[in-house]
Amino acid sequence: MREGIHPNYYQAKVVCNCGNEFVTGSTKEDIHVEICSKCHSFYTGQQKATQARGRIDKFNRKYGVK
Ligand SMILES: [Zn+2]
Repeated sequence: MREGIHPNYYQAKVVCNCGNEFVTGSTKEDIHVEICSKCHSFYTGQQKATQARGRIDKFNRKYGVK
C-alpha cells in the first residue's frame, strides 16, 4: 500500500439535531446532521402510527362505523 494515495480519512464525530452523537469514518472531521438513525426510527415510528390510523379510518368508513 503506497502512502499519499488516499485522501485524509478521519474518525468523524457526527452530531445530530436531536443531540445524539456518534462516530463514523469520513473524509470530514466533524459532521452535523439533521437526522440520525436514532431519531429516524422515531420519525418512521410516528409515520407507521399515522398509517395505521389511516387504515382504521378506511375500515370504519367501509363498514359504516362512526
Ligand atoms: Zn438524531
